[in-house]
Amino acid sequence: MEPGTIRRLDEAVVNRIAAGEIIQRPANALKEMIENSLDAKSTSIQVVVKSGGLRSLQIQDNGTGIRREDLEIVCERFTTSKLQKFEDLSTIETYGFRGEALASISHVAQLTITTKTRHEKCGYKASYEDGKLKGQIKPCAGNQGTQILAEDLFYNVPLRKQALKAPNEEFQKISDVVSKYAIHNPQTGFLLKKIGENATVRTQAKSTVENNIKLIYGQSIGKALLKIDIDDDILQLKVEGFVTNVNFTLKKGIFIFFINHRLVESVNLKKAIDQIYSLYLPKGMSPFIYLSIELHPNNVDVNVHPTKHEVHFLHEDEIMAKITETVERVLLGGNVSRTFYTQALLPGASNPDSSKLNESSDAGDKARLDYKFVRTSHSDQKLDKFFGNVSRNGSMSENKYSQNLKCQRDTKLTSVLELRKAVEDDCDRDLRKIFCELTFVGVVDRTRALIQYDTKMFLTSTKVLWEELCYQILLFNFGNLSGLKFSNPLPLHDLANLALQDPESGWTEEDGPKPELVERIVEILVEKGSMLQEYFNLRINSDGKLESIPSLVNEYTPSMAYLPMYILRLATEVEWDEEQECFRTFCRETAKFYATIALSKEDSEYKWEVEHAIYPTIKQYFLPPTAFAKNGSLLQIANLPDLYRVFERC
Ligand code: ADP
Ligand code: MG
Repeated sequence: MEPGTIRRLDEAVVNRIAAGEIIQRPANALKEMIENSLDAKSTSIQVVVKSGGLRSLQIQDNGTGIRREDLEIVCERFTTSKLQKFEDLSTIETYGFRGEALASISHVAQLTITTKTRHEKCGYKASYEDGKLKGQIKPCAGNQGTQILAEDLFYNVPLRKQALKAPNEEFQKISDVVSKYAIHNPQTGFLLKKIGENATVRTQAKSTVENNIKLIYGQSIGKALLKIDIDDDILQLKVEGFVTNVNFTLKKGIFIFFINHRLVESVNLKKAIDQIYSLYLPKGMSPFIYLSIELHPNNVDVNVHPTKHEVHFLHEDEIMAKITETVERVLLGGNVSRTFYTQALLPGASNPDSSKLNESSDAGDKARLDYKFVRTSHSDQKLDKFFGNVSRNGSMSENKYSQNLKCQRDTKLTSVLELRKAVEDDCDRDLRKIFCELTFVGVVDRTRALIQYDTKMFLTSTKVLWEELCYQILLFNFGNLSGLKFSNPLPLHDLANLALQDPESGWTEEDGPKPELVERIVEILVEKGSMLQEYFNLRINSDGKLESIPSLVNEYTPSMAYLPMYILRLATEVEWDEEQECFRTFCRETAKFYATIALSKEDSEYKWEVEHAIYPTIKQYFLPPTAFAKNGSLLQIANLPDLYRVFERC
């Protein structure tokens, strides 16, 4: 067979191929046209389609219009009113078409532009084919703005047309684009309809993002929205948007990302956010996410092909981390009690809000709700803090103790549920916000630390906060605490004896002889042994020896110097006779023991724990009681802007 002759392709064909690559479906063309209308400062954009945009796609705006003299070349490639010099490339429209959109559309469709500027007396109408003006520019009547009509899309690209023969699917894509731009541009009113039918999308001008989300995606999403707001100078990153809280779920998630006001897809970002939510939502469920991300134009990769909506940017890892971190923090802060349940992992704990959950999901999902509160995997990242079995080097080394893991269980005990509820009801939301967003500054001394929130500096009482939090951890992990195990069980007898020697025990002759008291202490604790083991993992064996005590936070080791006093106080201070009081006082005493830091603890170890165990745990889980607003556990000592003002005067 003879080799085929190589011929130069006709220019129009080359252009058509290039254009077909850019405009793959009606929704791509529409997206470009919407952006042009927005660039022209329109406050109203109306889209009318016939047959999924394949027969006709018309967009009418009330923007600046196009000047008569520009109409001749407006559809040629690389004509634009938005760039003058080459250098502008880096600052404006860093990705996108730079004058290619209209040209591309005119290569794959019959294009008609009707437009009027403010200063011209009448409008003008012009038709285009393959980037060139076809026929005359005709004067016509009309209001200010531009109407662009693309007809018979792909009339000259039969293959492409074949591939797109499902108008409904194309309409869906168009509707998606209009909806998303409507949300991102609430100052502009949008309308989308099929020709001769009622509007499927309609928003008003001067609306808000939130309103438009409700209008387009439904009230139930609207009610679950949490605001995202990031302004990071170092990353040159600004993010605004809304995400749904953990009470809201969708079978198919909605992820809307705009980068520098252009609708994009980012599989990586979607994955990262999905992963955060997977910790809080039932399996297979997804959130609604809308994020408007603004990056310095230099950080956006300009070499991405225009059709590849998948976008990449520099410092992607850091930026992604910043965004996911913020989303998670907002999720936690916006739903305190729920968070605590999910986080502190109270399997199946009854939830005060459970009646309000999942408005969006159908009844079939109700049965699965409990699932949200149960996390049985110990490998789960969120669990590690409480249940992990990695132990840090420190006085409590691995050879001495080992973590003793148990399976997650629910508790149905009303007494415990009531105690938990009391903690939640008493939670001070303002304080919670401060703790939730705190930045640890440093250790002041054995009892105090400095934290920063917003621009304010606070002096905190570590012990007071820590003791209260330990109490909460005990309550919320009731029945599911792991144990710190002693490799050599400690005789209660010896511990009680030691405690009574300590003047702090307050022992006097009147209390009776010490040996008798010791016997009594051991007797009480041995008697309660099985209960303590079951609920708190405090184990006492049949020889009256202490085998393990509850473990609260992995990275933190209680000071064993106080163990004797703890044992004594358990016997004397806990109200053993009444269920709820018993649990409450036991948790209180245990918390006191945990939060009392011995002077014998090395300074370096103490500081390490304060920074890496105590404050991170406070930040994540603490539900501050209302009384803490006034008990001195948190004192504002400076407001940074005020300080700067002082410095300025110097
Ligand atoms: P670009 O938007 O990158 O400049 P386009 O091909 O999308 O390239 O548009 C070419 C030019 O046509 C624009 O620069 C603008 O001057 C003009 N134009 C297109 N659509 C409109 C519109 N709806 N209103 C006003 N001007 C428009
Ligand atoms: Mg454009």
